[in-house]
Amino acid sequence: MIIDSIDKFMGGREEEYRTFDREGMQPAAYLEELCSMGLFGLIIPEEYEGIGLSNAGYARVLQHTSRYDASTSLTIGAHSSIGMKGLLLFGNEEQKRRYLPKLASGEMKAAFCLTEPGSGSDAASIKTTATRNADGSWSLSGEKIWITNGSFAEFFTVFARTDGEEGKLTAFLVERAFGGISSGKKEDKLGIRASATTTVTFDNVQVPDANRLGEVGKGFKVAMGILNNGRTGLGGGCVGGMKRCIELAARHAAERKQFGRPIAEFGLVKEKLARMTVLCFATESMVHWLASRIDAGATNYSVEAAMSKVLASESLWTVANEALQIAGGVGYMKEYPYERVVRDSRINLIFEGTNEILRLYIGLTGLKDAGEYLKEIGKTAGNIFNDPIKGFGVLSSYAKKRISKAFSARDSIRWVHPLLEEEGKACSYYTVWLSRAVEAVLRKHGKNIIGKQLLTKRLADTATSLFSALTVLSRVTKMIQDKGDAATKDEQRIARIYLQYTKSQMNSNLRKLERDEDALLLELADSIVQGQGYPWDVL
Ligand SMILES: Cc1cc2nc3c(=O)[nH]c(=O)nc-3n(C[C@H](O)[C@H](O)[C@H](O)COP(=O)(O)OP(=O)(O)OC[C@H]3O[C@@H](n4cnc5c(N)ncnc54)[C@H](O)[C@@H]3O)c2cc1C
Repeated sequence: MIIDSIDKFMGGREEEYRTFDREGMQPAAYLEELCSMGLFGLIIPEEYEGIGLSNAGYARVLQHTSRYDASTSLTIGAHSSIGMKGLLLFGNEEQKRRYLPKLASGEMKAAFCLTEPGSGSDAASIKTTATRNADGSWSLSGEKIWITNGSFAEFFTVFARTDGEEGKLTAFLVERAFGGISSGKKEDKLGIRASATTTVTFDNVQVPDANRLGEVGKGFKVAMGILNNGRTGLGGGCVGGMKRCIELAARHAAERKQFGRPIAEFGLVKEKLARMTVLCFATESMVHWLASRIDAGATNYSVEAAMSKVLASESLWTVANEALQIAGGVGYMKEYPYERVVRDSRINLIFEGTNEILRLYIGLTGLKDAGEYLKEIGKTAGNIFNDPIKGFGVLSSYAKKRISKAFSARDSIRWVHPLLEEEGKACSYYTVWLSRAVEAVLRKHGKNIIGKQLLTKRLADTATSLFSALTVLSRVTKMIQDKGDAATKDEQRIARIYLQYTKSQMNSNLRKLERDEDALLLELADSIVQGQGYPWDVL
C-alpha cells in the first residue's frame, strides 16, 4: 500500500525533481506533502502515532523513494535513520511520549549533529561543549557543519563534550524552540542538491537534564549505535538507485541503434548490464539479511552493517557510472536522469562513516575477535606462538571453530542447493583461507596491526566479499527451493557470476597478504605529499 502511494505521489514528477536539483532546494510545500504522506513517521511505533515499519519495511520504502529522487530519500532518511533514531533506541518513555508523535507527523523534523569543522571521521574529537548548570540543566555551545535537514529541523540529536576538553561525549535532544540555535546558508553541493545541508550553531543553548539522551559520558556509544542501526536505510536507498539505473540502461540499450543494431546486442554493453544486475542483487541480499537480523532482535551486527554500507555505496557508484556509459553522450546531458544519479550517488561513500573508516572498523573488529580467541587458547595451550609445532594443532582447531562460527552452524552450509554446490564449496574454501590469513597476520604483527591499514583493508574486503557471497547463495538457494530449477535460471546465473567475481577479489586480496607493494606505495605517497604534487614533466 505504501509503495503504491509513493508511486502515485512521486511518479511523473521528474521535471519537478530536476528543478529542485537545479535550484538546490525542496520547497516548504513539498516538505508538507512528505508530512501528509506519513513519510516522517515510517519507523515510529504505532503507539506513538507512527507507521511502525520494521527495519526491512523501512529499507524497502527508501528503496522506492530513491528510484524517483535521492534528495527526497535523504530528507526522510536523515530524519528517521539518524535524526531521531537515537530517541527510539536510547530514549526513555517520557522523552518518547513527548517527542515521537510530533516527529511522526513531521510537525518536528529531525537532524543529527555530530560533525564539526575540526572533527569528521575522528568523531570523538568534537569541541562542542555542554556544561552542567547549578540546577542540573546544561549550557550547550558549539558549531556543527554539514547537517542534513539543518535549515528546517526543529529537533536535533546533538553530541557534546561534558567534562572538559579531553572528556567524554554525551548526547542531547535539543529543540530549536530552546533558543540560541542558528542555521547557516544552504551548502551548494555536487549531488543530493535539493536536500538541505547547513551549519547549525548552538550559542549557550539551555537544555534541561530531562533532554539528555542516555548516560553522561556515553554519547560516543549512542552515536555509533544510531549510525549502525541506520545503515539499512542507506543500503535500501542504494538498491533503489541501482534498480532505476538498470531500468534506464536496459531501455536505452534496447532502443538505441548503432552499426544498424540495438547496442544491447553488443557484448560489452551486455556485460555491463549483467554486472550491474549482479551487484544490485548482491547488495539487496545483504541489506535484506541485515534488516531481517535487526528485526529479529540481533544486537551484535555492527560489522555486517559496515560491510553492507561499503558494498551498497560502491555498487551504486559503479552501477550509476555504467548506466551513464551505456547512455553515451545522452548520459552526460542534464536533460536526462543519468548525470544526476551519478552526482547523487557519490555522497554515499563519504557520509555515515567514510568507506575507509568502515573498512578499518570491519578489519580491526574481526581481528580483535580472533585475537581475543587466540589469547584465550594461548592461556590454555601455553606459549603456542613460540612453539609452532604444538601451536599448529591448536590453531587448526581454532580455524575449524572459526568456520563453524562463520556459518553459524557448520550444517548451514548444507543448505546451499545442490545446483550451487561448487559455489558453496568455494565459500568454505575461502573461509578457511581467510581464517588462516587472520591467524598469520596476528602472529606476525600482533598489536602493530593497528598501523597496517592496507593489510587491514584486504582482510575487510575479503570478509565482505565472502559474507555477501553467502547472502547471495542463501537467497538463491531459497528461490530454487521455492520455484524449482527451470524458473530460477537467471538467479543461478547471478549466483555463479557473483561467486566468480568475489573469488577473484578474494584471491587478489589474500595473495597480497603474502607479497605486497605496500611499502613502495606508502613511500611514494610520502614523497608526493612532501613535494606537494606530481613533480614530473615530459610534455
Ligand atoms: C552532503 C553531506 C551531508 C552530511 N550530513 C551530515 C549530518 O546530517 N550530520 C553529521 O553529523 N554529519 C554529516 N555529514 C558529515 C559526514 O559525516 C562527514 O563528511 C564524514 O564523516 C567525513 O568527515 P570529513 O568530511 O571531515 O572527512 P575527513 O575525516 O577529513 O576525511 C577525509 C579523508 O581522509 C580519510 N581518513 C580520515 N581519517 C582516516 C584514517 N584514520 N585512516 C584512513 N583514512 C582516513 C577519510 O576516509 C576521507 O577519505 C555530511 C556530509 C556531507 C558531505
